[in-house]
Amino acid sequence: YFRSLEQKGVKLNEPQLQATRHLDGPALVLAGAGSGKTRVLSSRAGYLLSIHNVNPKQILLLTFTKKAADEMKERIGLLPGLSPRSVREITTGTYHSIFLKLLKGRGDSRSILSNEKRKHIYLKNIMREMNVKDDYEPESLLAILSHYKNNMTPVEGLPTETPVEKEVKKILTKYEKIKHQEGYMDFDDILLDAYHLLKQDQHVLDMLQKRYSFVLCDEWQDTNPVQYELIKMIAAPQNNLFVVGDDDQTIYEFNGADSSIILNFNKQYPGTKTYKLDINYRSNTKIVGLANNVISINKQRYEKTLQASKENEASPSFLRPKDPNEEAEKVVQQIVNEVSEGKRSYREFAILYRANSNSRAIFDQFVLQGIPFVTYGDTNTFYEQSIVKPVIDHLRLALDAKNMDAVYGMLPTLYLNREKTSDFIWNKESRDPKKHLLSHALDLTHLKEFQKKQIKERIQLLDKIRTMKPLEAVREIRSFYDKYIDANEKKNLTMHKEMVKDTLSEIESSASRYKTIDEFLAFVDEIIEKNKDMVALRKNPEADVVKVMTIHKSKGLEFPVVFLIGASENVLPHRSALDANERKDMVIDSKKKIAAAIEGERRLAYVAITRAEEELVISSPCTFREKQVPISRFIMDVFSPEQRNIKYAKKNKNQGQSSGEKVSILVWACTSNDCIAWKRIETYKDTLVKSVDCPLCGGTMVQGNREVEK
Ligand code: ATP
Ligand code: MG
Repeated sequence: YFRSLEQKGVKLNEPQLQATRHLDGPALVLAGAGSGKTRVLSSRAGYLLSIHNVNPKQILLLTFTKKAADEMKERIGLLPGLSPRSVREITTGTYHSIFLKLLKGRGDSRSILSNEKRKHIYLKNIMREMNVKDDYEPESLLAILSHYKNNMTPVEGLPTETPVEKEVKKILTKYEKIKHQEGYMDFDDILLDAYHLLKQDQHVLDMLQKRYSFVLCDEWQDTNPVQYELIKMIAAPQNNLFVVGDDDQTIYEFNGADSSIILNFNKQYPGTKTYKLDINYRSNTKIVGLANNVISINKQRYEKTLQASKENEASPSFLRPKDPNEEAEKVVQQIVNEVSEGKRSYREFAILYRANSNSRAIFDQFVLQGIPFVTYGDTNTFYEQSIVKPVIDHLRLALDAKNMDAVYGMLPTLYLNREKTSDFIWNKESRDPKKHLLSHALDLTHLKEFQKKQIKERIQLLDKIRTMKPLEAVREIRSFYDKYIDANEKKNLTMHKEMVKDTLSEIESSASRYKTIDEFLAFVDEIIEKNKDMVALRKNPEADVVKVMTIHKSKGLEFPVVFLIGASENVLPHRSALDANERKDMVIDSKKKIAAAIEGERRLAYVAITRAEEELVISSPCTFREKQVPISRFIMDVFSPEQRNIKYAKKNKNQGQSSGEKVSILVWACTSNDCIAWKRIETYKDTLVKSVDCPLCGGTMVQGNREVEK
């Protein structure tokens, strides 16, 4: 089996072989990124089938995303001696897909409520009935519900200590009821309901336990408590449970992932066989070196060694663009150059970033220059998003007082019902076409005084901004829009609000490039138009396209060239991790330390860096949200004294340790092209600095005075 596996190009080193040959009982493969954990998992499935004649139906193989599940099937399909049929008979998929099938098989006829809009309508109606219409954002409420369900707590178990908690519980209880009555379930219900089913119905549990003699799980570090409980139940009593993961890559904490699950696996399952893999086969030496340096600073981790297997290749390169707009131009330019020179094709590139709002500038550039790319998630442009569109509609209305679509889009910001009000305005307009469209709204009956005032102020605002530069105009619009958002969020649910504000600042950043509103709107329309043509392209998984995604989505994947953009303070680490005041929300335990949050952000940086095979480009824009921002601490931290890559030569042979008597501080700088590293190194009386490896790119550093230059 192993020989023919190798002939198919699937080599395994000794520790990988041992793990693959693991037969029964609990096993844990705990190893760094790119060390072949996923390869071991698929090889072991094949090994069980072809060597031990295990029936494929007895294998349950869990992955974290659908994409990973598909890839897994493909990988297993390539393994020797397996008929396509037997591969098909392995149960593989995500936790959600597998347990949904189970529920469906038991006659559950509910369908998944995936439509965000509908959820929002439910929640908004409930809040309206309860007279707390604008007090909470639906997203934040849903996040709370999800958090509890991932910890096996149904809505009945939500806390009720404070008045806000009581109110939230009441809203969510109603939401659960309506959802159920209408025949829907949420994504999170799948796991929680399956959990209750297995707890309550011994017969079903027996059946699953008998059927699945071998349970294999990928990305175990991101398992959340409900997933863990499900797996525990099914794998019992033989506990032929084989899990692979890397605690340094726990990045789904907001979904309830808990790295203690992987770190305590041995305790939970005494007799666990632990396998360690320590060779990285994915990335070149310098990328692995940088990744090791970056993650070694985290304190809450299981220390692993990770050596590179590839020969020295290109050093990671660094960009320090002026702002995200320039960053996008530079990145796109580099891709265009390499493709037009025939060096690479589009599909070899991936662009990774921390938060969705960081992708606006890149998205714009790609669409403008007609570069084929794929994003995972929303197919709309940034300018059509629900938060952004009303701002754009204000601009449209400022230039064209008769633009009914724009009126329709901005009505909610005046707390007016869209359908009714726009019908009313339309009627009035046909009789009295001289007025500003919005001013018809003043004739609405039942208008409160403050609403009348608001409408008048808004008409004045539209008049005022008409001749402004787009950036100034957007700022004027924001001055009340921010208030509207604050009002929506007055009750402590801050997480979503910050995301909204980031998005709004991104509009400013985009608008700042244009001199007139007209020009800016023409650009927005061009983006929307061109994007329509590209949507179809994005649906084709085989297409030769650049991949653009958040770091979270890139888990487990690999790409020849990776651009990590937005590697600046406030972006990565994200501002929300840096500011304790922003962590007051209910979803994240208020006592959680900032240090832990930063460690979480550092793991994200580690995941991003370790996706790169051949080339890594890290870009740290100088400004973000109009403010100067330093290079991300995750990059700068690798210069800290904890890094052990300074080689001292002893002047005095008898000396063990340095005397600690400082003589001077020298500045060393990296000689590699594009590398921005420099480092202050203290020299001691009895030691001499012999050579210094660059902590960023692995290149050679020289003593010098490039500090000023850099
Ligand atoms: P991650 O932590 O990112 O999920 P992983 O540990 O699952 O990474 P894999 O994706 O399995 O790592 O492997 C990384 C890359 O190295 C893949 O391209 C894989 O095919 C290759 N690889 C794994 N083992 C070997 C080996 N023994 N020889 C050559 N290439 C290997
Ligand atoms: Mg993997």
